[in-house]
Amino acid sequence: MKVRGTKLTSDEFHNKVIAVKHAPEIEYDWATGVAISKFLKGLKDGKIIGVYCDSCDRTVTPPRMFCEECFSPMSKYVDLPDTGIINTFSIAYIKTDASRVEKPQLPAVIDIDGTSISPSGFLHLLDEINPDDIKIGMKVKAVWKDAIDRTGAITDIKYFKKMEDA
Ligand SMILES: [Zn+2]
Repeated sequence: MKVRGTKLTSDEFHNKVIAVKHAPEIEYDWATGVAISKFLKGLKDGKIIGVYCDSCDRTVTPPRMFCEECFSPMSKYVDLPDTGIINTFSIAYIKTDASRVEKPQLPAVIDIDGTSISPSGFLHLLDEINPDDIKIGMKVKAVWKDAIDRTGAITDIKYFKKMEDA
């Protein structure tokens, strides 16, 4: 059967007629806002910063401008210790690209000491610990990058490790 039109070869289809090849150089800035900027600056300085609400008498981290409980502006920033407890965790033998790993990645939500509600902390990684020994409620401490390598990112903390009993 005779059909109308002109048949395209694969080369014509991909390289001449239909396709446009373009490698965009996309750069962007993302404003983190006042509270998270303060938090990231704190990380660069090797500190975990939280905020205190006077009306609720509670401290939370990461910082936010308004208290989600009473809707008041937060009263003040506070320096928190770089220690906390494991709120929850996972032992992951599969990476985000679905490949398998022998040494598992250990993501955990860490409740930072000095905060007054649970959870008040953030998702990070555990290391220097046998996965079988991880327990909810275990005390952990941040292991920081060297000051010169910190960029003001959550990865300025390399991971949290088990805190030895003092
Ligand atoms: Zn409040």
